[in-house]
Amino acid sequence: MKGLGPRHPQPAPLFRDSLGASYSQHGTLYTSKLFEVTDVEVAIIGGGIGGLATALYLHQANIKCQIYESADNFTQLGVGINLMSHAIRALGELGLVEAVGKVAVEPEWRCYYNHHGQLIHRELTGRFAGYQWSHYSVHRGDLHEILLQAVQDRLGPDVVHMGHRFTKVVEDDGGVTLHWADPHGEPLPPTTATIAIGCDGVNSAVRRQFHPNEGRLAFGGINMWRGSSVYRPILDGKSVILAGSMKYGKLVIYPMRNYPDGRQLINWNVEVKSEVAGPNAWNKSGNVEDFIWRYKDSSIEWVDFADLVSHADMVLEYPMVDRDPVDRWTFGRVTLLGDAAHPMYPRSGNGAAQSILDAQAVARSIAGMPPVEALQAFQQERLEVVNKIVVSSRTSPPDLIIETVEQRTNGARFEKLDDVISKAELQGIIDNFHRLTGSTLAAVNR
Ligand SMILES: Cc1cc2nc3c(=O)[nH]c(=O)nc-3n(C[C@H](O)[C@H](O)[C@H](O)COP(=O)(O)OP(=O)(O)OC[C@H]3O[C@@H](n4cnc5c(N)ncnc54)[C@H](O)[C@@H]3O)c2cc1C
Repeated sequence: MKGLGPRHPQPAPLFRDSLGASYSQHGTLYTSKLFEVTDVEVAIIGGGIGGLATALYLHQANIKCQIYESADNFTQLGVGINLMSHAIRALGELGLVEAVGKVAVEPEWRCYYNHHGQLIHRELTGRFAGYQWSHYSVHRGDLHEILLQAVQDRLGPDVVHMGHRFTKVVEDDGGVTLHWADPHGEPLPPTTATIAIGCDGVNSAVRRQFHPNEGRLAFGGINMWRGSSVYRPILDGKSVILAGSMKYGKLVIYPMRNYPDGRQLINWNVEVKSEVAGPNAWNKSGNVEDFIWRYKDSSIEWVDFADLVSHADMVLEYPMVDRDPVDRWTFGRVTLLGDAAHPMYPRSGNGAAQSILDAQAVARSIAGMPPVEALQAFQQERLEVVNKIVVSSRTSPPDLIIETVEQRTNGARFEKLDDVISKAELQGIIDNFHRLTGSTLAAVNR
């Protein structure tokens, strides 16, 4: 294969142990003398957030890789992504926090309101809550661009192979042979590698090969419309806002870019119960009339949501889909990572975060032991942890707070919140969410 091998010197490892293994200051294993990681070549299938992050961590560990992406070219598709402190800490190991900080908004608060706009709870987030790492809200396209630029700068311009749609992988004793099709469906020459990592997202073809009887994605009975609007700051301009419940239509609103004139690029989502799932394509455009009627007479005082939507540069529709967790991601020399391994509802702010944490973990494993064992060790480390997040994103995301209050008040305004839900119960829901996602203050600052 052409183009293998790092083109730039490695960052100097900071610690070296008695076996000759060297570590970064955060404890990531860079190289081990127990075997030669430089003989390993990794094929990364999918150049999304998880695939690009994997390439960067592998490169940092001096492991060769190539990325194969089905799209012809990358466009700034998508809307906002929240990267909480646990994900930013991981990006810190790649030296990318400053770059993300420059294009993102650092929220100070996470706020929970009922559909009347009454505040139920708000909590500080990121550094404002005492984390050593920020929480950033960022446009997915901006995050993707930063990762792609870093891959091209550090690994070289030829390492990403566009227009390569994965069709099949065949394993033998020494490695894997990967089969590809071009965007017209014509076969491309197969390529080889020591191991392969399926980072091909929610509709993963790699996963389909190893879990052929899984069937369709699971639809949660909720449709989402998402968009972004250049708009004046809402509330303090530093809040991730969740408002309303499924019965009345839930809103998620947060800024993800600051502009010099004081306006912001604001991400907004609407989640509404629905009998029928639309196609789960990230670029499927949506129709404002399908949801905006709910908000025409909204009593929320702190935002004119219909006006916010009228400023949207685009509207996307996406169903709330995931898959039941599986008990296996690793099959010999192939593993799954990110959405391919654990597609989850995009409502706990963990889809991108967990794919970055996977990337860090898989690279650390591959750097530390022979490749086939490494993929097993990666699964061992991550599968159970992330499967729990998939399930909790269905049953108990943090906005369970709002659902609980709206149910108990039967959708009416409340006079005194304490009569509806205690502070301890509210905090219990939030703490449970942080525990499950590995984002407690103690875990992140450790
Ligand atoms: C275009 C796009 C827009 C998105 N917008 C949002 C958003 O607005 N908000 C949000 O929360 N999440 C969004 N997501 C999903 C989000 O990026 C992921 O949930 C999360 O970051 C996990 O990353 P991932 O790498 O596992 O998957 P993804 O980031 O989805 O990356 C998967 C990659 O694999 C490629 N791919 C797919 N099939 C094949 C194949 N057969 N062969 C080779 N390559 C393949 C895809 O083109 C894509 O580049 C979007 C994803 C995409 C692809």
